[in-house]
Amino acid sequence: MTLDWRTTEQTAWGSGWLSGLLGAIGGLVGLGAVLCFRFPEWLTVPEARALYPLPLVRVVLHGVLVSAFLLGVVSLTLRRNKALGMVAVSATLLAALFGGSQVPVDDELRTGPFLGLDWFVLSLILYSAVFIPLERLFARLPEQPVFRETWPTDFTYFFVSAILVQVTTLATLRPAMLLVDWARVPAVQAWIQASPGIVQFLLMVVVSDLTQYWVHRAFHAVPVLWRFHAVHHSADQMDWLAGSRLHLVDIAVTRGLTYVPIYVLGFSDGPLAAYLIFVSAQATFIHANVRFEWTPLQWVLATPRFHHWHHAAEPEAVDTNFAVHLPVLDVVFGTAYLPDRWPSAYGLTAAPRPPRGYLGQLLWPFRRRGRK
Ligand SMILES: [Zn+2]
Ligand SMILES: [Zn+2]
Repeated sequence: MTLDWRTTEQTAWGSGWLSGLLGAIGGLVGLGAVLCFRFPEWLTVPEARALYPLPLVRVVLHGVLVSAFLLGVVSLTLRRNKALGMVAVSATLLAALFGGSQVPVDDELRTGPFLGLDWFVLSLILYSAVFIPLERLFARLPEQPVFRETWPTDFTYFFVSAILVQVTTLATLRPAMLLVDWARVPAVQAWIQASPGIVQFLLMVVVSDLTQYWVHRAFHAVPVLWRFHAVHHSADQMDWLAGSRLHLVDIAVTRGLTYVPIYVLGFSDGPLAAYLIFVSAQATFIHANVRFEWTPLQWVLATPRFHHWHHAAEPEAVDTNFAVHLPVLDVVFGTAYLPDRWPSAYGLTAAPRPPRGYLGQLLWPFRRRGRK
């Protein structure tokens, strides 16, 4: 990796120069616009301020910031000289820290759903503050760097699923609600909502992991679904960020179906919020490059070692350990595999393999016939 302000590499199409340049310009322009939103009294002309069509400006600004960031990531991936890409990425992150396009101006009303650039920045800060030190202190593979070879791909997954959080949530929960409304039984819901929060929480862990287990197993067993899920298994190094590598179709189907029993049973808001935080934290943790094993508890709650075996590139481990929370589900359904060691390698055991970049992986399941 180099950082040089002079153009030292070729600038042809595909070299990452154009994407870096456009990303850097977009990022800086976007940052300027966000600063205008933030400090209108300093940076804008009062007479002109009244003329800006604010909702439109916000949508355009969002588009500019998101594409500048993606272009920066593309340039970082393609180019050895990271200067342009770094400018693009850091200008957008800085713009997001200043509130992105959501900065409130006077008492203008907020409308949505917007892309969650702020959600992305918050989760990035939170997750990296927790998991990077954890992986440095308790590394399962200490020689594996934070910025491993395919991190830009996984970072793009992390970015896209965070900024699309509102879109995917609405797109998956609404259909689930509409389609299974008939199954809601008021007496059952009243009984559940009268139960203590901790009981509701534990019940949610059981029913959602039971659903998740079978959805996940179907993603492995049905060839057309496997093409989407193979993307998740294409990571050949494991860490907290690798867990973000999930095709949008995989996210939508898994989340939509897992939400059905939760919705039908009608849990209270508090336990539901606690469960949502728990599931995203644990799903990240079980991918992490940490050596925690908790041998006495390893059949109670899924550990990194348990899920690392799900990703293992060893023939005996293929199609095992589908649970996210409760390994006992794999014991009951005969798919548990947890030897007294760590896997020797991760990733897909057989061709075809998805390409390495984000866009390639996004399109790959629609293009190719993929089988295990
Ligand atoms: Zn899987
Ligand atoms: Zn996984």
